[in-house]
Amino acid sequence: VILFALAAAAAFDFEAVRQVDARLAGIAQRLVTANAPICPEATPAPGLVLHAIDQYEPAYRPGARAAFGFAAPVAVETVVPGSAADRAGVRANDALVAVAGRRLDANEASATSSAHRDAAQTLMEAQPAAQPLSLTLLRDRRERAVTIAPSPGCRSRFELVLGPGLIADADGQVVRIGVRFFALYSDDQVAAVVAHELAHDILRHRARLDAAHVDRGLLGEVGRNQRLIRRTEDEADRLSIHLLRNAGYDAQIAIQFWGEEAPKIDGGVFRSRTHAGGRSRAKAMAAELAAIPAGAGAPYAPPLLRTRDEPLQ
Ligand SMILES: [Zn+2]
Repeated sequence: VILFALAAAAAFDFEAVRQVDARLAGIAQRLVTANAPICPEATPAPGLVLHAIDQYEPAYRPGARAAFGFAAPVAVETVVPGSAADRAGVRANDALVAVAGRRLDANEASATSSAHRDAAQTLMEAQPAAQPLSLTLLRDRRERAVTIAPSPGCRSRFELVLGPGLIADADGQVVRIGVRFFALYSDDQVAAVVAHELAHDILRHRARLDAAHVDRGLLGEVGRNQRLIRRTEDEADRLSIHLLRNAGYDAQIAIQFWGEEAPKIDGGVFRSRTHAGGRSRAKAMAAELAAIPAGAGAPYAPPLLRTRDEPLQ
């Protein structure tokens, strides 16, 4: 979670933040593990969310320590129920001191706790996707070693963005979802948004738009830029249907969601010409679902995936 300056530190509800992070983590875990076989790169998906004390503004740190423990600068914020981490006995508020035998404070004692969290994340992602992952946790002032047998998952990070906007984006590494989605929509509906953003990353859209010198700013509304951005949006919609279906979500919920809610999402007027309207988005997604061969199991790898290494032109 990214915390921006907030009005009243004392009244801040840390458990509410944890609950929303847990919802995002649960959706992400389901999507990345079910789709690992069709993703370009797999990493261990243990099903835990790490956070660092310095993610919280100084005024909030006493409250964050009270709610989350932070016996070390990096700790487990939440564990996805039923995940590998859950089965191995990892619990929310366990502090993390080592990953795969590497202590987080060994190299740069002066580094920020966020840097240690990122290092821990990178270490976890660097382990072989389907091999046991060893962590050293600190709980009740005692270090304990746990071995997690993670499922492979698509390589992606997920972050919650605080603030009032219905913001969602994907930069090739991190899928970011606005907290507001969780206030307004069910998990099945939020999954439609997460799947759309994950689809952008699986199809390497950011890198391919950059390679094609596409301007994603205001000039994105113009000519060739508009045409190529629109194409990536249409593709993300189409692939999202498969990601959801592979993960056992009802794709019809996503089709209905975009049909009705699309005009409210994604920056409104500035994206008006780079995103199709809700109705035509829903229609294109329904067509994608209908085109899945009868009897195709899951995970199904649609032909669209073969375009991910092609230049956009
Ligand atoms: Zn998009």
